[in-house]
Amino acid sequence: MTCDVAIIGGGIVGLATAYRLQELNPHLRLVVLEKEDRIGRHQTGRNSGVLHAGVYYHPGSAKAKLCRRGKQEMETFCETEGIPFTICGKTIIAVTDDEVPGLDALHERAKANGVHAKRIGPERLSEIEPYAAGVAALNVPETGVVNFGAVAARLAERIEERGGEIRTDAQVLGGTERSTMSVVETSRGAVEARVVVNCAGLWADRVATLFGVQPSVQLVPFRGEYVELSESARTYCRGLIYPVPDPAFPFLGVHLTRGVAGRVEAGPSAVMAFAREGYDFGTIRPRELAEVLAYRGFRRLARKYWRTGLAEMRRSFSKRSFLQALQRLVPALQMDDLRPSPSGVRAQAVRPDGSLADDFIIETTPRAVHVINAPSPAATASLAIGRHVAGLVLERLPT
Ligand SMILES: Cc1cc2nc3c(=O)[nH]c(=O)nc-3n(C[C@H](O)[C@H](O)[C@H](O)COP(=O)(O)OP(=O)(O)OC[C@H]3O[C@@H](n4cnc5c(N)ncnc54)[C@H](O)[C@@H]3O)c2cc1C
Repeated sequence: MTCDVAIIGGGIVGLATAYRLQELNPHLRLVVLEKEDRIGRHQTGRNSGVLHAGVYYHPGSAKAKLCRRGKQEMETFCETEGIPFTICGKTIIAVTDDEVPGLDALHERAKANGVHAKRIGPERLSEIEPYAAGVAALNVPETGVVNFGAVAARLAERIEERGGEIRTDAQVLGGTERSTMSVVETSRGAVEARVVVNCAGLWADRVATLFGVQPSVQLVPFRGEYVELSESARTYCRGLIYPVPDPAFPFLGVHLTRGVAGRVEAGPSAVMAFAREGYDFGTIRPRELAEVLAYRGFRRLARKYWRTGLAEMRRSFSKRSFLQALQRLVPALQMDDLRPSPSGVRAQAVRPDGSLADDFIIETTPRAVHVINAPSPAATASLAIGRHVAGLVLERLPT
């Protein structure tokens, strides 16, 4: 098969890139190569579903810019396509006095990012979230929820309607970049493409190496476990209830999320997974685990944060510990209120010096664009990331 652009990965970032490319040039022949039997099976289909407003990110970073732009574009897309989303607002809660400086720092950051956020006290908090407890809070009215899996499915439909191909069961196994054309070896045969885009999510660093690119980071899988609240306990959460996150980590802490269908989920934890798609403790892939353990960056990270890692593992093994984290935010919650719910795995980029890469990372070569790091809020930002990546692709396509 020969095409103009081959996009590796049928997650929301790969699909948004294909969608934006077709908008910019409807005549492009493009194919999305997805290793699974359907699109959106990994991070895209297993997340909190939050349309992030852009509170947390370093002002001026790619995350800060693309999240703001992408959220707007996502809302417009959902409105046009009739995909339900709710702007339910989010409340970030300082449970104790020592968390207040962190809350204030978030408030400043929200302002710097152009996000409307209001600092509130316990009285107003109890009006917004009657079951939540805290000494102070930040209310972000513009945060919302959507089902990113539904968005991905609609993007796929539109791509096919416009003549693009979505090839499932097509795992990319190898690749060669040449001066005028790249060859992508897949489990369903070879594809020749003028430009290759790597949006392989949890595998993006590995896929880059298949094309001879040595990425600046390695991806380490971190599982995020969720529980669902029973129907009777759903009243404990009206919108989104978040803790003040630890600024040392890119994860936002265990939170409660009322989804578009009214179900309330709590999570995710952040525990190292023993396989890139290790959705439970039993999934161990020795080769993938060995790769992580052999990585200098991971060993440095583990030496620095082993205590936090152990605490997260405890929470993962002990439902009581998970409950305690939730009770800090909503004291009325009880063990009987929690039901198991599917987990997700985040691709966390770690630098060789052991630091966690926070921002989106895109690396380019003359004939390829590699989206190496697209963690949260990449689902919110996907249409803006897709527009940016599409621009990089068009620069690489000789007219
Ligand atoms: C627990 C959790 C909670 C999150 N919460 C939020 C949130 O509330 N809001 C938000 O905006 N973001 C959130 N995120 C982040 C968001 O889900 C991701 O940033 C986003 O889905 C990334 O999309 P993607 O397309 O890059 O990756 P993915 O969805 O993982 O897609 C990559 C695709 O590439 C395919 N692939 C991999 N290797 C190959 C290969 N060799 N050949 C062919 N195909 C391949 C995979 O099968 C997969 O379908 C969360 C993530 C997690 C895990």
